[in-house]
Amino acid sequence: MTTTVTYVLTHSKSRPRQMHILARALTDRYGVPFTAAYQESTHDWRIDWSNGPTEEEVRGILTRLAAGLPAVTSLTLSRGYTDLAEATALLMWIDADPTRLTDVSSYWSCREAFGSTRFPERAPEVWIARAQRLLEVGHFHTAGLDWLRARDWATALGDLDAATPAPTLNASALRRLEAAGVTVADWAKLNHMSGGQWCGDVCGCPDDRCIGRHHAESSECGCLGALLAVAVRS
Ligand SMILES: [Zn+2]
Ligand SMILES: [Zn+2]
Repeated sequence: MTTTVTYVLTHSKSRPRQMHILARALTDRYGVPFTAAYQESTHDWRIDWSNGPTEEEVRGILTRLAAGLPAVTSLTLSRGYTDLAEATALLMWIDADPTRLTDVSSYWSCREAFGSTRFPERAPEVWIARAQRLLEVGHFHTAGLDWLRARDWATALGDLDAATPAPTLNASALRRLEAAGVTVADWAKLNHMSGGQWCGDVCGCPDDRCIGRHHAESSECGCLGALLAVAVRS
């Protein structure tokens, strides 16, 4: 594959064909869609993608694929981002050095954090959940950063984690509740949980740790069956 791409880049006379092959090779390599677009204003081509690998990394691969071919190695690269990926990158970047929180800025800090983070969209779930919560605070670059600046790092993480929604019910529990004509909110209220917010185990047992204690992960929850039978009778 690499040999073919290098051959096309260095031998093809057709720029559109070169750029098309290059975008496809990058898409295959990183599992993120890359596109090549001709810029009328600069009479040159630009490679676009969102999140995924860093610009530095893509620049490096271009240099390896087309060494000595400035038309390719100096292509304009444009790495876009989603709010969630940017927020995830910023949180992980601060976590690597919490002193960064003291002068976190909407431009430089975000550019540096995102620019140095590979595949922020594939970060561990805990960081994505924290970023999601931060985005709920309001516009990320203004309200979100103000919210962070108002706390020390340990407090910020604690607050983001506390607000992470409690685990909901698993598919089996949802199916059994539905069969009994009981909604999740009703099941939470019947088990004296405030605000109709389920905070028991995902199997439907009101104990917060049922799986692995009352029954094995692979077996159906006996607690849910017994409690549901009582609830439906009364
Ligand atoms: Zn149980
Ligand atoms: Zn259970």
